[in-house]
Amino acid sequence: MANKRDFYDILGVARNATDDEIKKAYRKLAMKYHPDRNPDSKEAEGKFKEAKEAYEMLSDPQKRAAYDQYGHAGVDPNMGGFGGGGQGFGSFSDAFGDIFGDIFGGGGARGGRGGPQVYRGADLRYSMEITLEEAAHGHETQIRVPSWSNCDSCGGDGAEPGSKVETCTTCHGAGQVRVAQGFFSMQQTCPRCSGSGKYIPKPCKKCHGAGKIKSQKTLEVKIPAGIDDGMRIRSSGNGEPGVNGGPSGDLYVEVHIKEHPVFQREGEDLHCEMPISFIDAALGGEIEVPTLSGKASFDVPEGTQSGRVFRLRSKGIKSLRTALPGDLYIHVQVETPVKLNETQKDLLRKFDESLKSGGSKHSPQQKGWLDRVKDFFN
Ligand SMILES: [Zn+2]
Ligand SMILES: [Zn+2]
Repeated sequence: MANKRDFYDILGVARNATDDEIKKAYRKLAMKYHPDRNPDSKEAEGKFKEAKEAYEMLSDPQKRAAYDQYGHAGVDPNMGGFGGGGQGFGSFSDAFGDIFGDIFGGGGARGGRGGPQVYRGADLRYSMEITLEEAAHGHETQIRVPSWSNCDSCGGDGAEPGSKVETCTTCHGAGQVRVAQGFFSMQQTCPRCSGSGKYIPKPCKKCHGAGKIKSQKTLEVKIPAGIDDGMRIRSSGNGEPGVNGGPSGDLYVEVHIKEHPVFQREGEDLHCEMPISFIDAALGGEIEVPTLSGKASFDVPEGTQSGRVFRLRSKGIKSLRTALPGDLYIHVQVETPVKLNETQKDLLRKFDESLKSGGSKHSPQQKGWLDRVKDFFN
């Protein structure tokens, strides 16, 4: 281990090399020393292993940091640090998988064995606004979405009536071609036919060779009671059609709940601010409150202060996941009367005198506050 070479030296890169530079350097060495190219060379095998180990260490940010700080001791498996591979070199694709995977990685295509490339259609998203009431009680509605049907002019094959669909001469109908890359070759989607394996010399005038016509259809959508803002409902198979016989994508209806003039929703609970007169607050009594399913009443206790919150059990929303509805919270705001006439003001002044004769017992909060201010200044 003492004479183990520096990983950066092995790859021939600077210590501050970027991930990309490290990747490129390794790729070059791997191509040069790969055992498949150097069947009987022990030296090449050694160099390949060395490069592979160096790459595995330096391409992993955690291992690279450990190596930078502690050298080989930081990453050597025998030292009990971070585990490292280095056992054999596996198959060809093994050694290249991580490097080439992201460069040539296929998208969502599934190649039938040598057959045309089959793609699933794209998903569609439909944004829908509903009211809080609709979200709470459930909602059924219809939406207009795009739909595709077989072209009636060409019958779906994309060729102008009277003409024929031919087999692609580049890929001979396979949809894929082999492309040489250095000393190995790989499969690629045929550039001429885009993987369909077919060639249409005279495309249908109506559908321009697509074989499908886009139109619109009406879809019934059932919004389940309890749905929350941002949730999506999937409508299977109502997305864009697949390519070369692939399955259609899905349609997602994304629900947005409009702001409500009275209620704010928090999960299953509802909150509502409610002004009450200071007479009601002082004397107490039954008051009427709004709920999502009509009016309800509850008793405001005598001497209610502004900002007090009352809970009405089960008057919230029953969410999709729970068995019981949430609660409704009424946040009481005591309203100071405005625009008083002289008589009313007079009555209040008399009322005030009467309160003052009772000392501080009518305003316990004010007394407590005044006491605290006194302490603060002394
Ligand atoms: Zn057509
Ligand atoms: Zn082709």
